[in-house]
Amino acid sequence: MTKQVNESWFVAGMIKATTDMWAKGWDERNGGNVSLRVLDEDVEPYVSTFPEAPRYLPLTEPLPALARQYFLVTGTGKYFRNVQLDPETNLGLIQVAPDGKGISVLWGFRDGGGPTSELPAHFKSHIARQGVTAGRARVIMHCHATNFMSLSYVLALSGPVFTRALWEMSTECLVVFPDGIGVLNWMVPGTDGIGEQTADMMKRHPLVLWPFHGVFGTGATLDEAFGLIDTVEKSSEVLVKVLSMGGPRQTITTQNLIDLARRFGVTPMPEALAVEKWFG
Ligand code: 13P
Ligand code: ZN
Repeated sequence: MTKQVNESWFVAGMIKATTDMWAKGWDERNGGNVSLRVLDEDVEPYVSTFPEAPRYLPLTEPLPALARQYFLVTGTGKYFRNVQLDPETNLGLIQVAPDGKGISVLWGFRDGGGPTSELPAHFKSHIARQGVTAGRARVIMHCHATNFMSLSYVLALSGPVFTRALWEMSTECLVVFPDGIGVLNWMVPGTDGIGEQTADMMKRHPLVLWPFHGVFGTGATLDEAFGLIDTVEKSSEVLVKVLSMGGPRQTITTQNLIDLARRFGVTPMPEALAVEKWFG
């Protein structure tokens, strides 16, 4: 019997990721979106189930760098808590056209819906991360991680400041995100402009803060992207608690960070290592 896309590892993985994100409280209502690059060999068993004349949707800007690539993406306006109940309505498998000017819907978006409104930020970030990881990066994940976005109201909106403060809030953070966090200015979401700037930051950083909104994270797998956001969010929660208790009396020192980096063989973002004061 022909295997259906619903039975694939990539749909199962996306259900797990979106369900966990909902459970974490990062994705109220339709908040958040995820895209997973699916390779030709992943798609191969399902090709015979694809429509002969798939629905075509134009992109707001041509992206020939992604020509012919497949992505499983969350739908615009869809609630993460519903993905597990009806993956075929809330997710879609799309392929970028050979000229990069549009996408074909091969499976999903059953109610006539379409991909996330943040598709420009996802696609441009995929291009950026594929470039800096020799194609290893396959996931872009956006959500409204509560504590992380809360900090955008009290910390300076600076990548080095956010990175340094969060490295200090948990010993393993420097090891998990040595390349630090990029911080954007506030921008209107769902636009090519915010996509462009996010992707530009993603060339250097696997995490990007959208102030008063949320986070973009990346990874080779759904687990890796989820784990990265989970780590920065946990550290943010510690910082929220520390600030609520009156601020730190002691912390991880610059020398501690240097020792950690040496032990775990990572190169910390230099501008963050150089920060002397991140609060007050
Ligand atoms: P979508 O429902 O279009 O994915 O938008 C949700 C969101 O978080 C926008 O930033
Ligand atoms: Zn959002």
